This record gives sequence, C-alpha cells and structure tokens, in this order.
Amino acid sequence: MRIVMLGAPGCGKGTQTKLLTDKYDAVQLSTGDLLRAAVAAGTPAGLKAKAAMDAGDLVSDEIVLALIHDRLTGPGAVSNFILDGFPRNIVQAEALDELLKSVDQPLKGVILVDVPSAELSKRIAGRRICRECGAIYNIHFAPASKEGVCDSCGGETYQRSDDNEATVTSRLQTYADQTEPLIGFYESAGLLKKVAGNADPADVFANICTLVDQL
Ligand code: AMP
Repeated sequence: MRIVMLGAPGCGKGTQTKLLTDKYDAVQLSTGDLLRAAVAAGTPAGLKAKAAMDAGDLVSDEIVLALIHDRLTGPGAVSNFILDGFPRNIVQAEALDELLKSVDQPLKGVILVDVPSAELSKRIAGRRICRECGAIYNIHFAPASKEGVCDSCGGETYQRSDDNEATVTSRLQTYADQTEPLIGFYESAGLLKKVAGNADPADVFANICTLVDQL
C-alpha cells in the first residue's frame, strides 16, 4: 500500500493511520512526528522548524522534503507506507509525485477524512498522546480509562504544545489556505477517496478499509 491520509488537523487521520499500519503491516510516515522528534533532539532542522510549528504555520518545504526523501528512496526505503500529514501543499505534492516516480512506486490512493470545521477545534483541544507508544486519546470522545495514563502501555499521556486555542486557529487557517487545494489536485489525478470522519472511530476505520481494499 502506498497511500496519503489527507484531512484537517484534528480529523482523526493520525488515529486511523495507526489502525491501518497494524492491519496492513504498513509503515506510518508522519512528518509531524518526525518534526517533533527533530525538535526534541535539538537537530538543526528541529531548531528551524520549532518557531513555525509553535505559530501553527507550515515548516519550510526544504526541511520537510529532506525528512521524507530519506525514507522513500535509498537503501532503507520503505515501499509499504501511509503518509500522514504530508503533503501539506501543492509544492510538496508535486515533489512527492516526482520522488515516487523516480523509484517507480506511484501512489495508490489518497483518503480524505472529512470532518465539519466546527468540530475540529474541540477535537484538537481534547487530544492527549502517550509519551511512550504514541497512542492517541481524546478526553471528550475516547478517554484513557485512567486519566493521564495510557491504556496500552501505562505510559504518561500529554497534550501537544501546539494543541492550544491560539495555535489551533492558525493551523486550521493554514489547512484551508495551503492544504485544502490538494483535494482538487488529487481528484484530478483520479486518486481521491472520501470518508466521513465525524463518526465512531471504528466505523470510520471500517469505511476506510473498504476503500483501501478497492485500491
Ligand atoms: P501534525 O502533527 O501533522 O499536526 O503537524 C504538526 C506541525 O508540524 C504542523 O502544524 C506544521 O507546523 C508541521 N508540519 C507537519 N507536517 C508538515 C508538512 N508536511 N509541511 C510543513 N509543515 C509540517
């Protein structure tokens, strides 16, 4: 499988990607996770990325493309992957096309997880993530059994620093301005499949699997 998960911040694409990686034995490539790891490690790319992430802007294409390039080409390249949070604009989508063409592994499809914008802020504000295993919870919709403790591994859950009200507004605007045009881009390429994301996560997952199985 070689697919892109597309959707606004808070639509649930990270949660769905994790479920898909288990079922299809695929690798999740999340540029957000890669960038947060770079920030935590204090790498030069991480230091440059931090200000944009804190402001809810996109990190430069140069930094993001370098992160993704290494994982899709070269000796350690993965061929069974789900891209989560990448591409985020047309420049990145075109670069991805070129990159995958160069290794003769074109995308199979793009899944758009569609959630009404009014719901997104609440979903983002409630999101909590396990520091150890990355499991995703939501204090409103899918809480951990014991607050602050991951059900899967017992690790501590936390709230992402950019999941705050001010940054969320800017992230949603950035999505509307820069990422939403990808819907038309992938529709024209005949790759886009749409799924309603404002339902029980298990139902959303079943609907995504039906689409993936048809690719
Ligand atoms: P995410 O975890 O996907 O919500 O990403 C968190 C933040 O990382 C975003 O708000 C951006 O600042 C940055 N980011 C993640 N992926 C990309 C990307 N493909 N291009 C540019 N910036 C990104």
